[in-house]
Amino acid sequence: MRLDKFLTELGCGTRSQVKAEIKKHAVTVNGAVVTKPDCPINPNTDLVCFGGQQLHYQEFEYYMLNKPAGCVSAVSDSRYPTVLSYLRSPRRDLFPVGRLDLDTEGLLLITNDGVLAHQLLSPKKHIPKTYYAKIDGMVTEQDVQVFQDGVDIGEKKPALPAKLEICNAGPISEILVTIYEGKYHQVKRMFDFVRKPVLYLKRMAMGPLQLDESLKPGEFRTLTDRELSALRSCKDNRNGSTE
Ligand code: URA
Repeated sequence: MRLDKFLTELGCGTRSQVKAEIKKHAVTVNGAVVTKPDCPINPNTDLVCFGGQQLHYQEFEYYMLNKPAGCVSAVSDSRYPTVLSYLRSPRRDLFPVGRLDLDTEGLLLITNDGVLAHQLLSPKKHIPKTYYAKIDGMVTEQDVQVFQDGVDIGEKKPALPAKLEICNAGPISEILVTIYEGKYHQVKRMFDFVRKPVLYLKRMAMGPLQLDESLKPGEFRTLTDRELSALRSCKDNRNGSTE
């Protein structure tokens, strides 16, 4: 990797800023001052110091954010804070894996690993996503059956069967719902179909990854090795699936 690209990826500045710093002798590689921005380095083995500070490079980073309401699942936005603003990471290649609505809270994976993101988002993989919701109205066993049969959310095909669990039925019900796809506003559209609007929505799990409940909205942490390997090996686990 070029030295200037390496420094930019680690958040040392823009490409032109880091080039200027290199020219000012602010960068050493394995103890020797380097003055050429295009100097090739091996990020895994070379010891690079910027302004006297040793830099630690990790090719891929993985974070779990408890997304608060009021921020967008995007890398930039002109109106709202983005989910990346909570990480305050200098890295520029991070992105959220999938989207939660502006008002939805809960589990959001943020990484720069495009291969893993692609696997988790692939419609063919049917990675389950579980949400907790407060619903305006009495959720019934009939709704459970409607969700199991596949709700018409106005697409060409009905939604895939979804597992609806009633935690508390009342004028405002509390439920858990697991869906195996990720259509736009999917959970809200499913409850619109049964004419019971979603009042509050929070994602609790994505495949094997569970929201760490010790994270307050807006807080994040890196994934553990165990969480990461579970995510990497997660498969289509709908009942009876052979994929
Ligand atoms: N379904 C929704 O309706 N909204 C979300 O944010 C996620 C799933």
